[in-house]
Amino acid sequence: MPIYEFRCEQCGAEFEALTEAGAEVDCPVCGSERPKRVYSAQAAPFSLVKPGGDARKQEARNAKLRERTKARFKESRQRARERAAGRKGER
Ligand SMILES: [Zn+2]
Repeated sequence: MPIYEFRCEQCGAEFEALTEAGAEVDCPVCGSERPKRVYSAQAAPFSLVKPGGDARKQEARNAKLRERTKARFKESRQRARERAAGRKGER
């Protein structure tokens, strides 16, 4: 059986699978039943590859932003609590 490369459209995972031509494979990461066969990196039209990569990069940026926002929120809440506690202590 030949080894084929697949790319999952759902989670973006890339993997190789030993399978007969035309056989269905499930994504080993998310279990999606619709991984796309990748014939070769060169064969994939650049215009089709790029949006996915950009979307993933954008998603990573968004995740980082969310983390930072969350951290800042926690920090300011903690500071507010400490201020409140400090005022109580003075009295
Ligand atoms: Zn997947």
